[in-house]
Amino acid sequence: MSQQQARVQMARFPHPFHAMLAICSDLDETADAHVYFEIMRFLNTTRATAMGPGVGLEVGNSIYFDMPPDQFAYWNTDEAGRQMVRTLIRSGHIDCLHSYGDLATTRNHARRSLDELAKHDCRLEVWVDHGTAPTNLGLDIMQGHGDEPGHPAYHADLTVAHGIRYVWRGRVTSVLGQGVRPRLGHLFSARHPLWSSRTIAKECAKRLLARCGSAKYAMHAANELLRPTRLRDGSPVYEFIRSNPHWGGVSRGETAQGIGEVLTDGFLDHLTANGGVCVLYTHLGKLGPRAAFDARAVAGFQRLGEAFQQGRVLVTTPRRLLGHCRAAREVAVHTAQNEGGLWVHLDTTAMACPDGGRLSRSDLDGLTFYVVNPGVTRVTVNGREVTDLSRNPPDDTGSESVSIPWRRLEFPCP
Ligand SMILES: [Zn+2]
Repeated sequence: MSQQQARVQMARFPHPFHAMLAICSDLDETADAHVYFEIMRFLNTTRATAMGPGVGLEVGNSIYFDMPPDQFAYWNTDEAGRQMVRTLIRSGHIDCLHSYGDLATTRNHARRSLDELAKHDCRLEVWVDHGTAPTNLGLDIMQGHGDEPGHPAYHADLTVAHGIRYVWRGRVTSVLGQGVRPRLGHLFSARHPLWSSRTIAKECAKRLLARCGSAKYAMHAANELLRPTRLRDGSPVYEFIRSNPHWGGVSRGETAQGIGEVLTDGFLDHLTANGGVCVLYTHLGKLGPRAAFDARAVAGFQRLGEAFQQGRVLVTTPRRLLGHCRAAREVAVHTAQNEGGLWVHLDTTAMACPDGGRLSRSDLDGLTFYVVNPGVTRVTVNGREVTDLSRNPPDDTGSESVSIPWRRLEFPCP
C-alpha cells in the first residue's frame, strides 16, 4: 500500500465557531447556596429559575473553603450545599479553586480542603487567586505566599499534586480576544470619550512597559491566553490571563450588575470578527439587593446564547477552554494518504510542554481539521480511531472539515 504525507490545517476553533469564550466568575459575596445554585441553573439550563428562564449556556463557577461566616463557601454552607458543590465539580460546572479563602492561613487549611475533595473523588484543575488571600500564588499583584516554601501558607506542592495545572495570578487585560493581534479600538465609547480613552492609554502603557522588560506585563505584550511557567517552588503550571473589555477599565462592570454593559452586540461582533479566545473576568455573585440578574444582564446572557446557537461563539467553562487552547498548540499531528483516503493521526504523548501534565482525551474535543474530502478522512488519537467523527460542510473559509465532536457538559438535575 503506497503512503504519502499530506498536509492538513487545524481550524482555530471547533467547527463552525469563530471565537471561544469562558465566563470566569469569582464567587465573592455570593449570598448562599440557593443563590449560587440558581445562578448556575439560569446560565446552564433552559428551565424556569428564580432569575427567569435559563439561557442554556455552558458556564462554570468557582469555590473556596475558609471564609467569614456571612459568605457562601464550602465550609460555611450546610451538608446539602456541600453535596451540591461536589456534584457540580464532578459534572465539570465548578472548575475553579478561588484560593482556599481569606481565613486559610496555613498549609493545614489547604490540606484539610484537599483531603475533603479527594475523599469525594472531586478534582479541580484551575486555580484563581482571590483578593489578598495568604494562599494566593501570585506575588507581584496578588501578594500571595502559597508557593513560597517555608511560609506557613505554603501549599503549592500539595495543590499541584491534587491536579491544579492552570493558574491565574492577577493579570487582567482590557483587550478583548487573546491569541490574535490585539486591537484596542473596541474600547472607545463615544458616550464616555474621556474614560474610554484613559482605558486605552492604560492598556498601551502596559504593553509599553512589557516591551521595556516588565515581567508583570509580559503576558499583555504577547496577547497570549496562557503560557507555561513555574511557581516559586518550581512546580510546573500554565498561567492564564483574564479579560474585562469594559470601556471604563478592567475594574469596572466586573460584577453581575455590570456584566450587561460588557456582553453587548459590539462585544460579540468584535470577538467573532477578530477570532480570539476570551476568559472573561467577573463576579456573578455580586447581584445587588434584588439577588437576581437585572434586565441588562439577562439581555447580555441571552445575546450570548444566540451567538452560541448561531455557531458564532463557543461558550464553555474556563477549564475546557484552556484545555482546548493547549491541545490545539501541543497535540502532534501526522498524516498519511493511501488509496483508501486520508488518515490524521493525533498524538498527545509527545507534547511540547510535558511539565504541564498530559492532555486528557476530552481536551481534544472539538479539534477540527480542514481536508479536501471529509468522506474518506479518518482520525486516530494515540492509535485509536475516532469512531464518531463529524464530517462538516464548508465554513466561511470555503473549506470542508472533520471534527472530533464537541460534547456539551451535562448539567446535573434538578
Ligand atoms: Zn475573589
